[in-house]
Amino acid sequence: MTATAAAVDREADRLTELDSAIGDADHGANLQRGFAAVVATLDTEDPAAPGAVLMLAGRQLISTVGGASGPLYGTLLRRAGKALGDSPEVTAGQLAEALRGGVAAVARLGGAKAGDKTMLDALEPAVEAMGAAADGQEGGSPAGEPPAESAAGSPGAAFAAAARAAEEGARATVPMQARKGRASYLGERSVGHQDPGATSSALLIAALAEAAR
Ligand code: ADP
Ligand code: MG
Repeated sequence: MTATAAAVDREADRLTELDSAIGDADHGANLQRGFAAVVATLDTEDPAAPGAVLMLAGRQLISTVGGASGPLYGTLLRRAGKALGDSPEVTAGQLAEALRGGVAAVARLGGAKAGDKTMLDALEPAVEAMGAAADGQEGGSPAGEPPAESAAGSPGAAFAAAARAAEEGARATVPMQARKGRASYLGERSVGHQDPGATSSALLIAALAEAAR
């Protein structure tokens, strides 16, 4: 969460610029405010279990971000945190499954689907790729050798696969016409711009991949 907050700080201007093209120029500032609040709360409350960290972070995003992205990202994290429960350790597979459920909750809440030019265009392929990588479908460590940091099935490999898929998904929003959120008001004029929320999703997952590595 600290790494994601730092990434948001670094890229806030770029996110706001993208949102100024097809939205209301607040996406960077929205997420900056939200993730700063997340880090501050985690500092004081210091929850022990990963699930509790995600639930607390989600709650903060919902209560501090005014834009559409706050309740959507907040719901993702809260739902994922709830799925993890209070177990002190989670595997890459459990985390991928929890995030998949969180992304499904985002789709239900916002009523968007793949191809609508939203954060889901980055999030859905990311959780798919993460699940596949956590299952070890991207090759494995040689028999008898201990798994390396980025071996198939490890958190490092799972997040790296998710980050690649999210980046690709975000880029794929450029030619799409927005069908949900503020950008949809622009109709055909939304074509030719990368979606701010898909871009922030790719950024957040890249930060998680870096942290996992
Ligand atoms: P707002 O649009 O309220 O200003 P933000 O600028 O913070 O909120 O976030 C905009 C992003 O939120 C969009 O780029 C898009 O990815 C995402 N978004 C908006 N509406 C939806 C929705 N219904 N479902 C999924 N994502 C959405
Ligand atoms: Mg906006």
